[in-house]
Order: sequence, then structure tokens, then C-alpha cells
Amino acid sequence: MAAGAGAGGAAGIGAGVAEGFRRLYGAPPEGVWAAPGRVNLIGEYTDVNDGFVLPLALPHTAVAAVSRRTDGRLRVHSADTGEGVVQLDLDALEPRAGTGWAAYPAGVAWALREAGHPVTGADLHLASTVPTGAGLSSSAALEIVTALALNDLHGLGLTAPELARVGQRAENAFVGVPCGVMDQMASACCAEGHALHLDTRDLTTRHVPFDPAAHGLALLVVDTGVKHALGDGAYAERRAACEAGARALGVRALREIGTVQLPDALRRLPDRAVRGAVRHVVTDNHRVERTVALLEAGDLRAVGPVLTEGHASLRDDLRVSCPELDLVVAAATAAGALGARMTGGGFGGSAVVLAEAGDTDTVTKAVREAFAAAGYTAPRVFPAAPSAGARRLA
Ligand code: ADP
Ligand code: MG
Repeated sequence: MAAGAGAGGAAGIGAGVAEGFRRLYGAPPEGVWAAPGRVNLIGEYTDVNDGFVLPLALPHTAVAAVSRRTDGRLRVHSADTGEGVVQLDLDALEPRAGTGWAAYPAGVAWALREAGHPVTGADLHLASTVPTGAGLSSSAALEIVTALALNDLHGLGLTAPELARVGQRAENAFVGVPCGVMDQMASACCAEGHALHLDTRDLTTRHVPFDPAAHGLALLVVDTGVKHALGDGAYAERRAACEAGARALGVRALREIGTVQLPDALRRLPDRAVRGAVRHVVTDNHRVERTVALLEAGDLRAVGPVLTEGHASLRDDLRVSCPELDLVVAAATAAGALGARMTGGGFGGSAVVLAEAGDTDTVTKAVREAFAAAGYTAPRVFPAAPSAGARRLA
């Protein structure tokens, strides 16, 4: 099947994964599927407030070779963990039972069966080029590649947004990680050369042209390599602050507050943390819409300052940044980047930087030197061309 420019890497891995499957299970797979990681251009914590987000798929993907079984067994193997095949009985799957990495594919099978879909078992072997734990959604890539394969093999006929909901339910209820639906939607629905405008209230999507290279620009991802321990509790706390804000303002979700109503809304909120959370969500939701307008007008350079503004909001209002992420933004913009922001839930993970293509070496060097001077571990920096969403490779 045509994989399209930029997806050649996935097709290449696909052949290797199919061969790995054959060696492992003794027969060729019925099919091979790919689902990418994602990076969010703008719109942070808006997905847990029914708002807008603007992610793009990375060239990095999970690739799975899968065959159907009819005996109620699920066998899963990852080329990346060093563990052997994990064998599970679908009838015996228990949410939050802690089956390690296998909880992701198992959770997808569980969520499909919970929703009444006739999943009768599978053999799965996968490999992924999505960095894990970097805030680039290696977990959603795993869920969506599994969901797409099971959907095709069992003829379930689910749409990409429906598969994204299944992936989110697997992660929330089976693995036990609270997350919005953005990651799964991005992995399932993105298109090459585009960012995905997603309304997380009803999962309506629009592909917005975003091809930095065609405009002489580059989008860099900087993986700081850090994950601060306070992150998990703080994420829940920030979500709770958003919910408290919505309750106090009498709306179902903060997406219902526009920038025009914001000053009045803030006056009605006595708690400082709640006020900061509300101001961040309302302004970041608006920044998504501003970014979409700029992209549609072909004015990509003007997106830079909107990113940097979004970072300040995450740092000062929602307070989810950390010194390493702040340093990426400060060093990159001082070295001439058009704009930069942390991306994902914060307290570590990755940042995105928009720069002139000709400046990427200077900007990368500046970030590396700033990290070295601060005594931080060297970050991983790579360009991210907006890539294809989940698809069947063979
Ligand atoms: P992120 O989604 O930001 O990368 P998460 O903590 O949500 O970070 O998900 C990472 C987890 O997903 C890993 O700890 C592992 O359990 C699972 N995972 C991701 N990629 C793979 C892989 N290639 N093989 C096995 N498990 C993987
Ligand atoms: Mg994840």
C-alpha cells in the first residue's frame, strides 16, 4: 500500500516488524499497521476543559504486525522491552491489574469488549520509534495501532474518532492514567503536512495546512529528558482547579468562557490558583484559534510569538513548567527562534521551537550550551515534519 512521502520510515520498519512476527509466532501476520506519536503545537490543558487543541503527528511511529485469534487469547510482544511474549486471557482481563507495558494493548482489547465489540483474540508484535516518557505520546501510539488493527481484523467498522475514544478509555480506566482525548485523536486522525484542529467537546476535526519546510522554517522538538516527581499529583491538581473554576462560574466547562468575558470571570474567582488556571485555559483556547487563522493565512512566522506567549501562560498562570523547559524557551528565543513553548502536561517532557530553517543549528547549539552551563543532561533535539496519522501499511 502506498505509504506516502515521509512515511517511508514506517514502511521500512513495517517489513522488519512483519518478519519479527513470523519468527515469533511461526506464521506471517495478517496485516501491519502504524500509528504515530504526536506533539502539540498549541492548546495545553484545553483538552480537559472541552476546548481546542492543535497537535501534529510525528514521523516517529509505533508499528504492529497482528493476526486474529478466535480462542479468546491475546499474545503481545514488543521488540523494544527485552521482555518475552505476554499471554493474556481476554475473559480474565482486570482494569489496573498492572500487567506492565502490555496493559496498553490489553486495555484496548478490554475497552472494545466492554463496549460490546466482538474481539476474539489476537497475536501482536510491535516496535516503536516514538521516544517513551518524553511527552510525545508513545502510549497513545501503542493504543491506536492496536485499536486500528483489532478494528480491521475483527471487522468492527469503527471510525478514527471512535478508536481514539477506545484508546482513551483503555488508558484512563484500564492502565489508570488520567488523560484527555487529544493524544489518541492526534495519532488516529492527523494528516501529513497538516496540524489537526480538534474540538475536544464533540471530536470534530479540521486539517489545517502546516508545512514549515515549504515556508523555509523548521519545527524542532526538544526532549529535556526530565520528568519531575511532582508531575502526576500536580496534573490532577491543575485539572481540579479548572473544574473548580467552571463550577464557580456556572459553566459545564471552561471552553464556554471567551476572552471577552474573562476579566469579569476572574473578578468572581477569589482563589489565586483557580484564577490562574482559568486565565490560562481561556487564553490558550483563544491562542489555538489565533494560530489556526495565521496558518490558514500562510503567515507561519507570526505563529512564533503566539507560542512564546502560550509558554508564559503555562509558566506563570497555570504553573506547570519547570526550569529545564523555561531554559529551552529562553535560550531558543535568545538565539533567534521565532517562538517556543513547553508542550504536553509539563513538569518535564518536551518543548517545541519554531525557527527559520537556516537558524536551526544556531538555535540547537544555544539550547545545548545553556543546558551544559546549567549542569543539565544534554537534551535531545530533532526536527518534526507534520506526518501521517494511523494507517494500515500492509
Ligand atoms: P508517553 O506517552 O509520553 O511516551 P507514557 O508514560 O504515557 O509516556 O507512556 C509510556 C509507556 O508506554 C511506557 O512506559 C511503556 O509501558 C509503553 N510503551 C511505549 N512504547 C512502547 C514500546 N515500544 N514497547 C513497549 N511499551 C511501550
Ligand atoms: Mg502517554
